Amino acid sequence: MALTKKGEFWYGTTSGDTQAELRSYSLANRHEAVRFAASKCDCGCRTFALQTDEEAGVAIRTCTDCGQEHLMGDSADHVEEAAPEAHECVCENEVFELMSGVCVYEGTHDVRWYYIACHCVECNLVGVFADWKCEAGDAAAFLAKV
Ligand SMILES: [Zn+2]
Ligand SMILES: [Zn+2]
Repeated sequence: MALTKKGEFWYGTTSGDTQAELRSYSLANRHEAVRFAASKCDCGCRTFALQTDEEAGVAIRTCTDCGQEHLMGDSADHVEEAAPEAHECVCENEVFELMSGVCVYEGTHDVRWYYIACHCVECNLVGVFADWKCEAGDAAAFLAKV
């Protein structure tokens, strides 16, 4: 499956499609995402509601199966001053598979920019729903917490 465009939106079916859209968005943003990780709840579920506050640098995912809330990446460090808002797809669904990607500082493994791409489980839309400049240190440790 490859990404297909309908109107102004892109649609895909696999996590590879979501990753491709994230990378393309990051290139347009001139901070290329080079490392990626898909979100998975401790219970094994891969679909979530997503709330973000890009200014505070906070993302919270809520598992659609067990209801566990998780602060993604380094969000726990910024949640005090955050006012996260829920994301809704253009089809009004609020359940997504999530793919995170990070740009790193050249020659390092340190996170420079954070992207969160969503795949809508209802209509298959894929898109980056949130991104921000993020200085969270080691990319592997960061992506282990998405
Ligand atoms: Zn769960
Ligand atoms: Zn949708």
